[in-house]
Amino acid sequence: MIDSQEPSTNCPDFKELASSIVSPIREPVLIVREDGEILAANESFCSEFSIQSISLVGNNIFSFSKGLWAQCGLREYLKTLWDQPDPKVKQNLYLPTVDQNYIPVWINGNPLNFYNEEPKLCLLSFEIIGDQWNGEIDYRKLLNEVLSEAPAMMCILRGPEHIFELANEKYFQLVGNREIIGKTVREVLPEVEGQGLLEILNDVYHSGKAYIGKEFSVDLADGKELKNSLLDFVYQPIKDSSGNVEGIFVHAIDVSEKVLNRRALENSEKELRNVIDTVPVIVWLTNPEGQGVFFNKNWYSYTGQTYEDSRGHGWMTAVHPDDRDQVKKNFLDANQKQKEFSLAYRLRTKSEKYRWVIDRGRPKFASNGDFQGYIGSVLDVHEDKIKEQIIKEKEHRTRSIVEEATVATGVYVGEDMRIEFANDAMLELWGKERSVIGKPLEEALPELEGQPFHGLLQEVFHTGKTYWGKEDRVDLERNGQLQTGFFNFTYKPLRDGEGKIYGILNMALDVTEMVESRNLLREREQHFRLMADLMPEKVLNTDAKGRAVYFNQNWLEFTGKTSEELKLVDWKKLVHPEEQKEFARKWEASISTGHGFEMELRLRDREGKYLWHLSRAEAVKEEAGEILMWIGTNTEIQRLKEEEKRKGDFLKMVSHELKTPVTSIKGYVQLLLNILRKEEDQPASTLPIKPSLERIDNQIVRLTRLISEMLDLSRLEEHQLELQKEIFCVNDLVVQTVQDIQLTNTQHKIEIFHSYRSRVNADKDRIGQVLINFVTNAIKYSPESQYIEIHVLQPEEGKIAVSVRDKGIGIDVRDQKNIFKRFYRIGRESEDTYSGFGIGLYLADEIIERHKGQIIVKSEKGKGSDFSFILSEYSPNKQYDE
Ligand code: ADP
Repeated sequence: MIDSQEPSTNCPDFKELASSIVSPIREPVLIVREDGEILAANESFCSEFSIQSISLVGNNIFSFSKGLWAQCGLREYLKTLWDQPDPKVKQNLYLPTVDQNYIPVWINGNPLNFYNEEPKLCLLSFEIIGDQWNGEIDYRKLLNEVLSEAPAMMCILRGPEHIFELANEKYFQLVGNREIIGKTVREVLPEVEGQGLLEILNDVYHSGKAYIGKEFSVDLADGKELKNSLLDFVYQPIKDSSGNVEGIFVHAIDVSEKVLNRRALENSEKELRNVIDTVPVIVWLTNPEGQGVFFNKNWYSYTGQTYEDSRGHGWMTAVHPDDRDQVKKNFLDANQKQKEFSLAYRLRTKSEKYRWVIDRGRPKFASNGDFQGYIGSVLDVHEDKIKEQIIKEKEHRTRSIVEEATVATGVYVGEDMRIEFANDAMLELWGKERSVIGKPLEEALPELEGQPFHGLLQEVFHTGKTYWGKEDRVDLERNGQLQTGFFNFTYKPLRDGEGKIYGILNMALDVTEMVESRNLLREREQHFRLMADLMPEKVLNTDAKGRAVYFNQNWLEFTGKTSEELKLVDWKKLVHPEEQKEFARKWEASISTGHGFEMELRLRDREGKYLWHLSRAEAVKEEAGEILMWIGTNTEIQRLKEEEKRKGDFLKMVSHELKTPVTSIKGYVQLLLNILRKEEDQPASTLPIKPSLERIDNQIVRLTRLISEMLDLSRLEEHQLELQKEIFCVNDLVVQTVQDIQLTNTQHKIEIFHSYRSRVNADKDRIGQVLINFVTNAIKYSPESQYIEIHVLQPEEGKIAVSVRDKGIGIDVRDQKNIFKRFYRIGRESEDTYSGFGIGLYLADEIIERHKGQIIVKSEKGKGSDFSFILSEYSPNKQYDE
């Protein structure tokens, strides 16, 4: 502490004086006060009595070393010493050493009457008996010895003029080695005149009272110049046996340096105090007992306290009542341990408000290591503290939000990615217990080894660039099983106040389900496309609004365009102009209602040809009913359409074909009836009945054929055409059939060539029917030529063929296959030119096929045709299927 203490009542100068007196003396000596306190002991004393000087000085002669010398003999001797003015007696005593060895000594006491006032001092010298005791110590000799050896400046002045009688070396040095002995002070030290010293000397001499000067400033000549010294000194009157003053003992110590140092210290302390007062913080000091002894101005202006309020522990009354006990406890605790402390508490301000402060104290130690109390500072941190509180609250809040958040969140710190924090969602995602917190990630999730995440984390940690994982695959050991998941996540660097990266924030979202379902969808879509591509239909996929997104392979092949071209060129334009309007209307209606679409329409193919399609589209809907997309199919129905047309044509023809013979039969019957009615009297033979009946018969044959063909057709469709097989000779059948035909077709010449003869096992009537069809067609389609050839031949071993050749209109190669189709007739300008139903060859083909035979057409347009059928010959050895 800076405040200087009052000087102790034990004037330190006595001790200093006493020790300076005893230390040079060779005999064991002590200086004791009247009350028994030992002021000084010399080395010799300590060694003779084996006592350490520290247990002596300051202690009582009767109580040091547990009252080692508290014996009556010594007490009585000292008592007589004080009572007699000039005792000079010595006494024989047994005195113990520390190890309790009593040794006989002569004790000789000489009062030191330096000071007339209390306390009285006495120089005790001891002579260990055993050595030769050569009388009493000569006080003057002793004094001389003392004076010459003492570190202090000493001299003895005699008489009222203060004549130097004696002076030691130090004193000579002080006065610049002037010749002073036998001369008065005024004489040899003229410069002291006017400095007050002579007056004091006179005063001491006349009053007989000692004078103690402290830090007395004296200017003494040192060569030519005056040198200033600061002296602590004692002017002790020397009295004769009757008490009259005969001189003055001067004992002085140069304290210049000490004082200057102290003043400098005081000045620097003053400065320090100024500094302390002007620094913008509160500064305080305590003494070793922990009592406040100094507070700078800031303290008073901050708290409004006075020094009286604050001193001791008074400053604590300004501490918030809620914080006070804790502060007191912590402060006293620190004080006791002499340890540095820092306390945060609320301190009452002048305006009676409490503000947060931080009070720091640091123990002060003297150079010898003694604890001197604390120096401390108080800093107002109210705003910061409040902020800190808010931040803490916020942090707490965000922490709890994060902790409860469904987004998996983790914080890893340091290069080893120690898990500092992981919320429940993250732990669940990992499939790990809470105990992983605090462990490095590598240790907590060893299954990540070999996956890219450690590398990514290190990269983020070192580059500071956030990493966004999108549907990244992560294999995690969840609850003991390695599972694959997909995650959207971030690795975000965390920076401290200085911008240095200290960790990584990881937030992750499990998107496994989404990715898996999308993969499934993709797979399904692939399946769908694969299927769609395999489908014979043209499959089209549009979005909910009808915009095309996908065309299958058939579409592309049909149109000769790529998918992109089809999307670009509106595929709807491929619809035949005649159906376009209806198509647009129906398609739009479907899109707006979600109802299925169905329509027959023509679509243009890669060659620009329109082909009939059955176009259908169905909406694919979500569970909620919302349309996701449309899937459309276009099935080619060109053949169906054509057949339908042929059917229509057939019906037209059938009615025509039926009408013609019936009308003509009706006509002839009418004619015959009229003739009969008119010519009732005439004999029938004279009437022209025969030709009419022949015509009627002809027409009936036609009708019968027509009806049986239709019957066959329906049987064929119902799979009821059954073969009645028999073994017959093909050549005979040909002859017979031609004979029958020739009955009604007299104009044509039919010639048969039998280049081979054989039998077959077949349905004779059906084969006959085929032959009739071939021959009647040859007749029908060769209006210009009347010659028909029929060849029976062997096309190869085991086979027999019947070939019907005409020189008629012939058949275009293109049509040669089609003529075997149902209702197919070669379109000619006039449909009526050649009557027929387009089923003859269809039936013929079916019949021959059922006989496992073959029909061969050779024809050239305008030149004629050759229709032949080939059957297997009958061989008795051969096994027949049926
Ligand atoms: P249709 O009753 O019309 O004769 P078919 O099935 O017997 O029916 O014959 C089918 C078509 O084949 C005929 O319409 C005709 O155009 C053609 N055709 C058949 N035979 C001959 C032939 N010998 N010469 C030319 N065209 C023929």
